[in-house]
Amino acid sequence: MRLITNLKFSREEFEARLRFKTNPVGQITPHLQHLALDLLEMMYNINAIGLAANQVSLSMQLCVLDPAFLYNKKMPIVMFNPCIIEHGEELYDSMEGCLSLPEFGLPIPRFRKIVVKYIGMDGLEHIIKDDNSLLSSCLQHEIDHLNGILMLDRLTEKKEIPFNKGD
Ligand SMILES: [Zn+2]
Repeated sequence: MRLITNLKFSREEFEARLRFKTNPVGQITPHLQHLALDLLEMMYNINAIGLAANQVSLSMQLCVLDPAFLYNKKMPIVMFNPCIIEHGEELYDSMEGCLSLPEFGLPIPRFRKIVVKYIGMDGLEHIIKDDNSLLSSCLQHEIDHLNGILMLDRLTEKKEIPFNKGD
């Protein structure tokens, strides 16, 4: 699994992989469970608290998260086909970074309250309600990835992204 970042990839390659909506998965097979565990392992290895499948060129609706890892705990969450089914109106600025845009750390407007529906590793549907925590912004960041949206797209002022020109 190779992480896609703007520093390592050309604009064309970057956009082709990260600017598209990923495909929903069907039944949760052992193969999908293995991919999810690989993604989790990679996330922990690079000291991150969230990773979306398309960030490593897997075009499927799968993301892994663990905000508790920031506090040296492990409470992994694996989500297939996650979607926000409800959100409050209120926004706040969440300080975020992105593995695919390693040089940016910026306040991004996010909903305070969200309700997310997803399929877990057990193949069953789950619901997470989150209010005003790191998990809420983390969920919005990863679900955005799966829909082809980057955190910079949420800013009203556009930021120029530098890309690898190759040599
Ligand atoms: Zn990201």
